Amino acid sequence: VLDYFETRCQGSKRLSEQAKQVIPGGVQHNLAFNYPFPLAIREAHDAHMTDVDGNRYIDFLQAGGPTLLGSNYPAVLVQVQVLLNECGPITGLLHEYEVKLAELVCQVMPGVDMLRMMGSGTEAVMGAIRLARAYTGKKRVIKIGGGYHGWSDQMVYGMRLPNTGRMEAIGIPRGATATTQESLPNDLEAIRRKLMWNRLRGGTAAVIVEPFGPESGTRPVTRDFNAGLRKLCDEFDALLIFDEVVTGFRAGMGGAQGYFGIKPDLTILGKCLTGGYPMAGGIGGRRDIMMMLVGGIGTTTKRAFVGGTLTANPLSCAAGYFALLEMQRTQAAVKAGRAGDRLRQGLEQIIERLGLPYVAYNMGSIVHLQTSGVMLLDTSNLLKLIRVKNEAKERKHMMEEMGAAYTAHGIITLAGSRIYTSLADTDEVIDDALNRFEDV
Ligand code: PMP
Repeated sequence: VLDYFETRCQGSKRLSEQAKQVIPGGVQHNLAFNYPFPLAIREAHDAHMTDVDGNRYIDFLQAGGPTLLGSNYPAVLVQVQVLLNECGPITGLLHEYEVKLAELVCQVMPGVDMLRMMGSGTEAVMGAIRLARAYTGKKRVIKIGGGYHGWSDQMVYGMRLPNTGRMEAIGIPRGATATTQESLPNDLEAIRRKLMWNRLRGGTAAVIVEPFGPESGTRPVTRDFNAGLRKLCDEFDALLIFDEVVTGFRAGMGGAQGYFGIKPDLTILGKCLTGGYPMAGGIGGRRDIMMMLVGGIGTTTKRAFVGGTLTANPLSCAAGYFALLEMQRTQAAVKAGRAGDRLRQGLEQIIERLGLPYVAYNMGSIVHLQTSGVMLLDTSNLLKLIRVKNEAKERKHMMEEMGAAYTAHGIITLAGSRIYTSLADTDEVIDDALNRFEDV
């Protein structure tokens, strides 16, 4: 495997060495921290990418989720080009596409009456939590153990460095996480106990959850868990926040809330919201809560303040609007989901045939290929427990090495353990991938 990188990826190696001089670690995002070094990509279309050395890959990273239509979808690109010619990426004033995007999101997402664009998923989470506190007048926030809600001070609570296990809290004052609590997935009783404890200590403003489970379903949660959270939040007058950065439009146009039929009070959007274009973040929710963002200008009206020079720029909004229209027209979530099913079934057969210590499972277009202890699965809302024997001591490093091996066989995954399928994944692409996985 390392041979492949040494002989076939010299251009990437050179560029990543050069990058290290001026960019910390040589990468701008953790996703690109590939082992043994990051690949530099020159071209990306549909289900494939080509690196600067001319090697072609099946693209199961899909930028970490946003490109449900496949990379650089032509019908969106054309509209973005028209807009850029007309008014450029930003004016600071209102543009029609901001309204069109918001109208469309409100129409398809059950829990969204109004939408506010933000710069990223992280920012949207920060804004939603502020809104929840402003609306309820309470302070504590409960998140689900292992869940990722961006890198804000208050939300990295409980995050651990992959190899050392130490808290990833350097540079974060203790006070910043004092009102954040973490509770295990699928344990409603533990959350009830926290809600009761909090009642006498400033109250609970919100419970925030990735509705398919922490880390995009790496630890799946059930529909019943989500429904239970809805009930508990109502009982304790806390807001339920669905972080749909990954599931938004990927689990269907209505997101996980549409899939499960459960309405959160606030919804965090990102990734697919702008179809892979920059500034992917949005807070959606109930009208009465969302209106807390508006204070009369120059008055003392209570207002939850958020900002952002480039939020709601016409570029992101046009890209998002046309991408969502295409997702709707093509039934992208359903088709990418079928590709995910086909891939998972094939992977299961390979695992079974070769007797590998792996488990493959998927929730539509989000496919997990894991080697680990115990997995709690919630596919098609069926809860089952799967035990996987794992001989590997260093799971994380093993997944990294597997990721490199997949790359050397022409497949890019997310850290060797997660796969996002897209509308561009035809049966031929999936079958080609399965042959390569089998070789690895
Ligand atoms: N929430 C979830 C569930 C996410 O998966 C992510 C990003 N992977 C975020 C929030 C943060 O979004 P962003 O990277 O746009 O800040």
